[in-house]
Amino acid sequence: MNNGDQPAIPRIWVLIEQQEQQVHPVSWELLGAARRLAADLPGSIVEAVLPGYQVESLAAQVFRYGAERVYLIDESVLAPYRNLPYAVAVSQLVITYQPEIFLIGATTRGRDLAGAIATRVGTGLTADCTELAIDPAGKILAATRPTFGGNLMATILCRRHRPQMATVRPRVLPMPAPLDTGPGDLVRVPFAMCEDDVPVKRLRLIRAEERPNIEYADVIVAGGRGVGGPEGFVLLEELALALGGMVGASRPVVDAGWIDPGHQIGQTGKTVRPKLYIAAGISGAVQHRVGMSGAGVILAINSDPHAPIFQIADLGIVGDLFDVIPEMIRQVKGYSDARQAQL
Ligand SMILES: Cc1cc2nc3c(=O)[nH]c(=O)nc-3n(C[C@H](O)[C@H](O)[C@H](O)COP(=O)(O)OP(=O)(O)OC[C@H]3O[C@@H](n4cnc5c(N)ncnc54)[C@H](O)[C@@H]3O)c2cc1C
Repeated sequence: MNNGDQPAIPRIWVLIEQQEQQVHPVSWELLGAARRLAADLPGSIVEAVLPGYQVESLAAQVFRYGAERVYLIDESVLAPYRNLPYAVAVSQLVITYQPEIFLIGATTRGRDLAGAIATRVGTGLTADCTELAIDPAGKILAATRPTFGGNLMATILCRRHRPQMATVRPRVLPMPAPLDTGPGDLVRVPFAMCEDDVPVKRLRLIRAEERPNIEYADVIVAGGRGVGGPEGFVLLEELALALGGMVGASRPVVDAGWIDPGHQIGQTGKTVRPKLYIAAGISGAVQHRVGMSGAGVILAINSDPHAPIFQIADLGIVGDLFDVIPEMIRQVKGYSDARQAQL
């Protein structure tokens, strides 16, 4: 059944994640991917699911990023995020409309929800994908993700169950440009659950400390074991500040407690796509590269000329970072001062 539409329209769905009426940018990245998948899946349409409370005004943006139809589930029970009402609301919609493909951001909330929806509707879920494509032979989703500690990539097909579900982390996919289109079809979906049906209550909201949102930084100065200790990061911070960027890190230095886990880049950290990525004292292990290889320009600073990071770097400096970085700071500050003087 497809609720009045022609049967068997392949629907490609994206879950729109919002918090306090702010859409998480991963939703736009997924809509971009959905449009690319739709181009390879004849007759398919891109649709979005927008759950929340007082979120109807967000639908206009969702259309601009390429959804032809938005399913709006706007109920007060969905005001604070809780797994049960969200999972029930979205699962009911899946059962009614039977999408072919369902994409969800691998954020904290998306990870919590995707598994619950997959379990409720009885399908599989490929988590933390790095690539999505349509398998040309079977016209089904080919979802690629790292496996065996990041040393192999596995492409997973979900042949027998629907929808084919996948989660993708923020910044793994490129950010699409919004389209110059008008509104599409807005479907208001009623949802009967009320507050008494939800055993989990939000008593109060404790806001997390402001964490670095490194995923969307334009410039990242990242340090690895070569930085030598927490004090080495002071130098990196100075360069990052001079360039208007943020500090990143490899996993061992986070494990060693040299820097907060929010800075970790790689397979078990964040995925980033800055315009400039400076990797200082980082060897370039595959588990690190998977998180930063989408950067516009990669500048590697390493004392070992054979370090693997140089294989993917656009620019490389073979040298001691404690000589190179202070010189870079001097140069950048000198350039900024000269520009200020000209103005
Ligand atoms: C399942 C799994 C998940 C993982 N997830 C992640 C992840 O998310 N992110 C991540 O980063 N890693 C991850 N790892 C670890 C990864 O395999 C590497 O061990 C790690 O990336 C190496 O960190 P590093 O480059 O800082 O250290 P090293 O490999 O020790 O490299 C240090 C580099 O610094 C250089 N150096 C030393 N001194 C100086 C100096 N003074 N000046 C300039 N260069 C210098 C050295 O030549 C060397 O190349 C994961 C591993 C596994 C198994």
